[in-house]
Amino acid sequence: MGVLTAIQRFSLHDGPGIRSTVFFKGCNMRCAWCHNPETLRVEPEVLYYRSKCVGCGACAQVCPSHRVEEGKMVYDRALCGDHGACAQVCFSGALEICGKESTVQDVLHEVMQDADYYAQSGGGVTLSGGEVLLQPQFAAQLLSALHQQGIHTAIESNLNVDFSVLEALLPDLDLVMCDLKLWDEDAHRKWTGAGNARILENIARLSSSGKPFIVRTPVIPGVNDKEEEISAIAGFIGRLPGLVYYELLNFNPLGGSKYQALDVENVFADARPLPEERMQALAAAGQAVCPSVRVG
Ligand code: SF4
Ligand code: SF4
Repeated sequence: MGVLTAIQRFSLHDGPGIRSTVFFKGCNMRCAWCHNPETLRVEPEVLYYRSKCVGCGACAQVCPSHRVEEGKMVYDRALCGDHGACAQVCFSGALEICGKESTVQDVLHEVMQDADYYAQSGGGVTLSGGEVLLQPQFAAQLLSALHQQGIHTAIESNLNVDFSVLEALLPDLDLVMCDLKLWDEDAHRKWTGAGNARILENIARLSSSGKPFIVRTPVIPGVNDKEEEISAIAGFIGRLPGLVYYELLNFNPLGGSKYQALDVENVFADARPLPEERMQALAAAGQAVCPSVRVG
C-alpha cells in the first residue's frame, strides 16, 4: 500500500510527452514556497475551502469539530481527527480529505487507461509528491509493474535521502527529475528546512550511474532570483554527464488556496511570478557555464 494524494492524468509538465502523475503524500523538506502543501504530512488531512461552503450543516451531524453558527459553518481543526467523515457528506466540495491508501493495482487501473496516449506522445507515468523516496517499497513495486507493461517511468524527487534508496529504484526508472533550489548550504537550510550537501552528493552519484536526469530550480522572488545563484548551480551540474537539461521554473502562486484550506500560513501569499525578461536573464547567466539551461 502507498499513501497518495492524487493521480493527475494528461500532465504535460512532469516529463516528456503526455503523462499521468502520481502524487505521493509525505515530504522530509519544508520549502517555504511549496505549492503542494497538502502533500507534506504523511497522514490524511482535511482541506476546508470556505468559499464553497453553503452552511447546510451536514458535516456538523457527523463530527463535533463542525458546528453551524448564524448560517455559517465553524470548523475547529483542533478537534479534528482527520478521518474524513465530514468530507463524505459535504456535497458542495467545501470539505476534502486528502491522502488515501492505494495498491499498485489501484494505480495501474487508473493510469493504464491512457496507455495509448503515452505511446503516441512519447509519454508515460511520473511519480511525484511530496517525496516519493519516503515510500520506497511501494515506489519500487509500482515502477516495476509499470515497466512490465512497457510504460516509460520517471520520478520527481528532492533527493534528500540516502543514495541507496534511489539506487534501488534505478533499474525501473527511465528518467530522474530533481530539484536543486539553492547553492548556499545555510540559505538552503533556512528556506527548505534541510541542508543541500546530501542533495549535491546524490546528484553527482546519479550522474555517475549513467541514468539520464533533469535538474530544476524553482525561481522564488527574494530567495534565489539572482544571477550569481543560478550561475553557481549551473556551474556544478553543467559538468555532469547524463544531464538532459537544467530548467528554471518561475514561481507558481497556485498553491495559495490550499494553504488557506489547511489553515497554514503562506509566507509567499503576496509574491508574484518574475517577469519573463528576468527569467531569460537568469537563464543567460546559467548558459555561460551550462549550455542546456532552459526556462520551463
Ligand atoms: S521538496 Fe517539494 S514537496 Fe517537499 S516541501 Fe519542498 S517543494 Fe514541497
Ligand atoms: S457539509 Fe460542507 S457545505 Fe455543508 S456546512 Fe459542512 S462544509 Fe459547509
